[in-house]
Amino acid sequence: MPPETVEVRRSARRRRTVSAYRDGDKTIVLLPAGLSTTDEEQWVRRMLERLAAKEQRKRPSDDDLLDRARELSARYLDGRATPSSVRWVENQLHRWGSCTPDHGTIRLSARLRGMPAWVVDYVIMHELVHLLVPSHGPRFWALVERYPKAERARGFLEGFSMAASGTPEEC
Ligand SMILES: [Zn+2]
Repeated sequence: MPPETVEVRRSARRRRTVSAYRDGDKTIVLLPAGLSTTDEEQWVRRMLERLAAKEQRKRPSDDDLLDRARELSARYLDGRATPSSVRWVENQLHRWGSCTPDHGTIRLSARLRGMPAWVVDYVIMHELVHLLVPSHGPRFWALVERYPKAERARGFLEGFSMAASGTPEEC
């Protein structure tokens, strides 16, 4: 989780309870005032995991993802990318998304579940553009940038990868 999207609020009135919630693209973690820095870090991590797990249970289904992909293609790519399926995969640990242009199939790493919808949409958008342009050249990025939150989403995912493994990853 990139640090700039997490806001920790301490309250002297809170003694034992911690909680976390999303506010737009920010995550607010509420903690009691007396925690040490180490405890705070552990609690923040734990609460973010819990929140992600909760959201994961409400994750979009594969059908929802396909609907979203078609909407994104219609809105930003003049409908030129025509995905046939979009599905979550559990075994994609080093890439956020992948696709098979010949079949129009897109796969998203299950690690994206629970992330904000605009981040998941970015990865879908990235793969949609790959259906049209295989390599990461200027033509590819020009199309990806039609998605207004592309740069922000890339920052979000980079921060997440760095926090998890110390290295950025690509799709
Ligand atoms: Zn790519």
